[in-house]
Amino acid sequence: MNPAPTRADDEKNIGGVHIKYLYHCARQLWLYGKGYRPEHRSDLVSFGEIVDETSFTRRRDIDLGEAKVDWVTTGAVVHETKSSRTPNPDHAAQVRHYCLLLERRGITVQGGTVHYPLIRRTTPVDWNAEARAQAETDEHRARSVLAAPHAPPRLPRSHCRGCSYLDYCWGE
Ligand code: SF4
Repeated sequence: MNPAPTRADDEKNIGGVHIKYLYHCARQLWLYGKGYRPEHRSDLVSFGEIVDETSFTRRRDIDLGEAKVDWVTTGAVVHETKSSRTPNPDHAAQVRHYCLLLERRGITVQGGTVHYPLIRRTTPVDWNAEARAQAETDEHRARSVLAAPHAPPRLPRSHCRGCSYLDYCWGE
């Protein structure tokens, strides 16, 4: 089964989901880029959306087109909420990407915070020259994956737990 392309990969803007998938699995990113969207069947994704929607009542999403930032506070601190109980490098990478997108719109970004309401923790995300370089590298890597003519290989099965693309990759 080959998902139909939606539009040329080089026209795509890179959003937070692209960065998340880049860190998890290049194949997942590639499939997402081709328009394959099984997320609505994933209980984990639904759970994350519920946590996201109920954890904070005073918040305002910021729609950047290619990315939706949870909210930005005074001094341009980017906030991202995660349903995970375990801080993960891809969470900080997403926040760095949002910082990059905001900065490109002329905003002087101070940094970011990842919120983990289920474990009542926050993790700060620095925004400096090193973080900017990392964000630009991630964006470039994501574009390279999206432009690949064929799907990248599967991860080892043990890494696929909870992935919404299990059906496609493993026929489950
Ligand atoms: S099922 Fe595994 S190989 Fe397939 S996209 Fe998900 S993580 Fe990657």
